[in-house]
Amino acid sequence: MLTGQCLCGALRFRFDPKGAVTDYCHCKMCQRWSGAPVTAWAQIPESQFEITSGSARTYQSSSRGIRHFCDRCGSAVFMTDPAGDSVGIMLGTVDDPTSLAPTGHGWVSDQVKWLKIDDHLPRWERDAPYDR
Ligand SMILES: [Zn+2]
Ligand SMILES: [Zn+2]
Repeated sequence: MLTGQCLCGALRFRFDPKGAVTDYCHCKMCQRWSGAPVTAWAQIPESQFEITSGSARTYQSSSRGIRHFCDRCGSAVFMTDPAGDSVGIMLGTVDDPTSLAPTGHGWVSDQVKWLKIDDHLPRWERDAPYDR
């Protein structure tokens, strides 16, 4: 199991990373939500994720995405879909994300022009093919 938390530490979670899909997202919604030029994610089935302390508030940012943030410090922590199938965890909130290196870049159509990432991972103009 891996663990993570928000900035203030009130909201803590743990998850089983087995089968996780990992990627960068360059979309403008993630930029606005995080305040960062790019975000990195691990997506797992919801059954592998558990909040262990604190509570999250939610904001539904689109018809298929609900964003969860700490109700105390506001950290952007994870995302779910309305069907409850999967959880996307912001890798910056994971205590040790070493084992979860991103394997692709989604939404490079929104990538900030001065951001150069010198890797050879697959890139998709919009959603990665495994996203719906
Ligand atoms: Zn917090
Ligand atoms: Zn995004």
